[in-house]
Amino acid sequence: MTYKVSTPVGQHRPNVDHCAQRGGMPVTAMAEVVVDLDAIAHNTRLLASLAGPVMAVVKAGGFGHGAPAVARTALQCGATWLGVATAAEALALRAQGITAPTLFWLYPPGETFEDVLQAGVDVSAATLGALEALADAADRTGTVANVHLKVDTGMSRGGAIPGEWAELFGWARKYENTGSLRVRGLWTHLANAEQPHDAGLRSQLRQFDVARDAARAHGLEPQILHAGNSAAALQLPEARFDLVRVGIALYGIEPIPGRDFGLRPAMSVRAPVVLTKRVPPGTGVSYGPDFHTDRETTLALVPLGFADGVPRQSNGHGEFLVRGVRCPVAGRVSMDQVVLDVGDLPVQPGDEAVMFGPGADGEPTAGEWAAWAGTNANDILTGIGERVVRRYRPAR
Ligand SMILES: *Cc1c(COP(=O)(O)O)cnc(C)c1O
Repeated sequence: MTYKVSTPVGQHRPNVDHCAQRGGMPVTAMAEVVVDLDAIAHNTRLLASLAGPVMAVVKAGGFGHGAPAVARTALQCGATWLGVATAAEALALRAQGITAPTLFWLYPPGETFEDVLQAGVDVSAATLGALEALADAADRTGTVANVHLKVDTGMSRGGAIPGEWAELFGWARKYENTGSLRVRGLWTHLANAEQPHDAGLRSQLRQFDVARDAARAHGLEPQILHAGNSAAALQLPEARFDLVRVGIALYGIEPIPGRDFGLRPAMSVRAPVVLTKRVPPGTGVSYGPDFHTDRETTLALVPLGFADGVPRQSNGHGEFLVRGVRCPVAGRVSMDQVVLDVGDLPVQPGDEAVMFGPGADGEPTAGEWAAWAGTNANDILTGIGERVVRRYRPAR
């Protein structure tokens, strides 16, 4: 251990003897993410019991938690698919020995697909160019490309727009006939599953029906229809179809404002206080300075900054938990560090400062940081930087 934890932190204290990334090396990290895999396990079970078959979305390094560990835990607890954005993310899972069905959906024009087809990864396709490239790659590699056709039902992000469906489905069927590809899935993404009565959501679901009927009319028989994200998985039975693609709920963030489904946040971020100093009233702190102490107080330096994901946009609002007390960030967030105003708390170097966690011991949550920074919790989770070491508390 590099620092002593002088505050009881209950479940946030990692089981250092079981930390997957410790690998027998001394722990030298200053700041760390502690990922509670038991929370991932709980959330996966809860989602699977509510919504049926689950694709665990582990893009962006498992929303900052570490994709392989999250993927393994979710698969052990009932998830049957993995979803990622990029080919590199899919191949990284395969390189870790994770062989579960995996879909990726984002790639540049000119993608050649050979490596992903050889790795048995499913591919989303929304253009004739992609179908042609997939069929070519399948022929070159002696594989059959497993394709999920993506339709844009109203979000105007990825996917083929309705006027393109007939041609897309027609060509997909032709390539099926030549044996190059198989249309395994038909899918879309919902813009507003948080609002069950939203007109745009209802229109998207109707359009998805239209797309399914059109696909069938072209002779396609996609076995897996999928549309729902976390919010849909939790509250929209009519959008669950054959698979739900859950991201944020898997990590324990409640996706629907004002509703609590009993999800458990998996990520805690903490660091040791590295220096303290007693200063008089009127002391300027950090750049500018645009903060001055209003009394004699103790300042505590914490080695987490905006390069580590403490959002600079939170200036003037952020808080950490130290010795069971919320302490404000004094002055601007720096790249590598923040200064806390801890008042008269007897804080010592080595004490633990918690940026956020589940909130059970009074520490801020990712959602609070999101509010302070004017963003969402996804942005906070995925923003935690690479140099913050990930450590894992195992699932029970
Ligand atoms: C990120 C993503 C998801 C997961 O969405 P959540 O709202 O986090 O559950 C699902 N599908 C696609 C296509 C995505 O890009």
